[in-house]
Amino acid sequence: MVVERNLPPIDELVLTILSQNTSNVNMYRGYHALKEAYDTWEEVLEAPQSEVADTIRSSGFFRIKAERIQASLGEIKQRVGGLDIGLLDHMDRDEALDWLTSLHGVGPKTASIVLLFCFGKPTLPVDTHVWRVTKRLGLISHNTSREQAQPLLEEIIPENCIYSLNHNLVKHGREICKARSPKCDICFLRSICDYYKKTKRPESSS
Ligand code: SF4
Repeated sequence: MVVERNLPPIDELVLTILSQNTSNVNMYRGYHALKEAYDTWEEVLEAPQSEVADTIRSSGFFRIKAERIQASLGEIKQRVGGLDIGLLDHMDRDEALDWLTSLHGVGPKTASIVLLFCFGKPTLPVDTHVWRVTKRLGLISHNTSREQAQPLLEEIIPENCIYSLNHNLVKHGREICKARSPKCDICFLRSICDYYKKTKRPESSS
C-alpha cells in the first residue's frame, strides 16, 4: 500500500529540508517542534535564526537547516510576494524543477519530492535508497551519480508509476535491500537483479 504524504507545499518543502541527513523520526520531531513554536511560516521567516535552529535541534544539522529554511522562505516571499508556491502547478515539470532548485538549499531531491507529492508532477526523487536499489538491479550502471540517475530513471519509468515506484523503492531499500547487508535470500527481485546474479547466485560462486 502506498502511504500518501498530503502536506501543503511549503510544509513539504520545509519537511524535506529537515529530512536531509537524518532519520524520518528526527525529521518529524523537527517539523512538529516548528509547528508548535510558530503559528505561521511567516513567523518562522521573521524569527531569529538561532531561535529557529534551537527549535529544530532534534532534527540534526540544525544550524544549517535553519539557515536553509529561512533562506528558501525568504526567496519565495521575495519572488511571489507571499509564502505560497502554488504557481508551480502551472509550470511543466522541468520549469518547476528549475524554479525550485534555484532556491538556496533546495537540491534536485528536495525539489522532486515537493513536485511529486504536492503537485503530482512525474519527478523521481533519487534518495540514497532509490539510488542504491536501482544500481543493484541494473536499471542504471554502478558509476551513475545521483544527479545523473534522476533523468535516466525518469526516461524508463512510465509517468503513472513514478509515485508508487518511488515509495516501493524506498521501502525496499530500508527493509530488504539494505546498504550493508541486502537480504537477498528473501528478496522477490532476485531473478532480475544484476547484483544478485553477479555476487550471490549459487552457480556463480561454485
Ligand atoms: S536481490 Fe539483493 S541486491 Fe538485489 S534487489 Fe534484492 S536485496 Fe537488493
